[in-house]
Amino acid sequence: MKAIIVGGGILGTALACRLATERADVELFEAGRLGGATSAVGAGWLNSGGKEPFEYHVLNVHGMAEHATLAREFGHAPWYHASGNLRWTTPDRTDELRAHAERLRSWGYPVELLSPKRVNEIEPYLRVPDDVTQVAHYPWEGLADLTQLVGALAHRAAVHGAKIHTNARVASLIIDGDRITGVTLVDGTTVSADVVAICAGRWSDEVARTAGVELPMAPSLGFNIYTGPAPVVLTSMVHTPDVNFRPDGAGRVMARTKEFDSAVPIDGALDPVPDVGREILARAVKYLPGLAGVPIEGARVAYRSIPGDDRPVVGHVPGRPGLYLLVTHSGGTLGPLLGRLAALEIAHGERDSRLARFGPGRIVGERAR
Ligand SMILES: Cc1cc2nc3c(=O)[nH]c(=O)nc-3n(C[C@H](O)[C@H](O)[C@H](O)COP(=O)(O)OP(=O)(O)OC[C@H]3O[C@@H](n4cnc5c(N)ncnc54)[C@H](O)[C@@H]3O)c2cc1C
Repeated sequence: MKAIIVGGGILGTALACRLATERADVELFEAGRLGGATSAVGAGWLNSGGKEPFEYHVLNVHGMAEHATLAREFGHAPWYHASGNLRWTTPDRTDELRAHAERLRSWGYPVELLSPKRVNEIEPYLRVPDDVTQVAHYPWEGLADLTQLVGALAHRAAVHGAKIHTNARVASLIIDGDRITGVTLVDGTTVSADVVAICAGRWSDEVARTAGVELPMAPSLGFNIYTGPAPVVLTSMVHTPDVNFRPDGAGRVMARTKEFDSAVPIDGALDPVPDVGREILARAVKYLPGLAGVPIEGARVAYRSIPGDDRPVVGHVPGRPGLYLLVTHSGGTLGPLLGRLAALEIAHGERDSRLARFGPGRIVGERAR
C-alpha cells in the first residue's frame, strides 16, 4: 500500500512514522521545512483542561497519555516534559476556577487546588500575587517541544523506509473519476499512491479544494515571544490572568497572551520584536521576577489550523476514495495519537471508536470541478 502525506508538521510526521512502522510505502511532501509552520509556534501544552464535549475531552486525555507512551517507546525523549500546569485567576473569579476544577474532577481528570506556599515548593521562582489564595494544579498535563518531536518522528519514519521530501510543495491532487490517485508537485512531477493524506494544517482546505472537496476552516492567529536564557528554573506551564508562559529550554521562557494573539499580522515584521512583545514580557516579569532585564530573543506568529466546527477532521472523505483528511487544532496534544489511529485506519481499515464523532463526512462538502 502506497501512501502520500501532504505536510510535515506534527500531524504529517506522526502519521508517516506510524504508517512506515506498519510497513506501508510512505512518501511525505513538505512545502517548506519539517515542523516549520504552526508546529513551530504551538505552545506544546499537552492538556485537556477546557475541552468539551466529553468525547473531545477523552480524546485529548488519550492524546496526553499517547505522548507518555511514545516517550517510553523512544527511550530517550528530551522533547517530552511531564511537568504539570498551574493556573490562577483574579480573586473575583476564584469561584469559577473552583467550579471548573470540580467539573473536571467529576470527569475523572485530576485537579488540585494549591496554596501559593505549596506552589512555591513546586516552582520556587514564581511569584503568585498576594491576593491569590488558590492555584489550580493539573498534574496530568505537560509540555512537548514540538519541532524536536517532529524531527524524531520523521527520523523514525525514514529509518522504516519512508521518503521525506522538504521544499516540495504539492500543487494539486490527481483525480481519476472520483478517485484520488496521487499528487502533482509545483515542479510538475507526478507521484501516484493508493491513498493521499492531507495533513497540511491551516492550508488543508487549499489542498483539498484541488480535489473538489470543500473543508471549512476557521484559522486564528497566535503570537509568542521567546526570551533569552534567564537565571530562573521553571518546569510547569503557567496560566495567569494576563499572560501564559512555559520553559523553552536552557532558561528561556516562551510567553503569550490571548489578548495580543492577533496584534501582529501573519506577514508582520518580527525583527525587531513588535512593541506588544515587550508588554507580554513585562507581564511575565511580574510573576517570574528573574526575567527582569532578560532580552527577548525572538517572536513567532502563525495561524492555528482550526476546522470550521473546532473539532478534529480525521478519516476517509466520503465520495472521494483514496483521500484521507487529518486536520485538527490542539495538534500538539493530539498529534501522536491521531497519527497512530489514522495509520491503523489507512493501513488496516480499522477505525477506532474514539474517532466516531470526528469523521470528515460531518463537515466537508463537494465543490464543482
Ligand atoms: C500560538 C499557538 C499556540 C498553540 N498552543 C497549543 C498548545 O499549547 N497545545 C496544543 O495541543 N496545540 C497548540 N496549538 C495548536 C498546534 O500547534 C497545532 O494544532 C499543530 O501544530 C498543527 O500541526 P499540523 O501538522 O496540522 O500543522 P503544521 O505544523 O502547520 O504543518 C502543516 C505543514 O503542511 C505544509 N503544507 C501546507 N501546504 C502544503 C502543500 N501544498 N504541499 C506540501 N506541504 C504543505 C506546511 O508547510 C506545514 O509545514 C497552538 C497553535 C498556535 C498557533
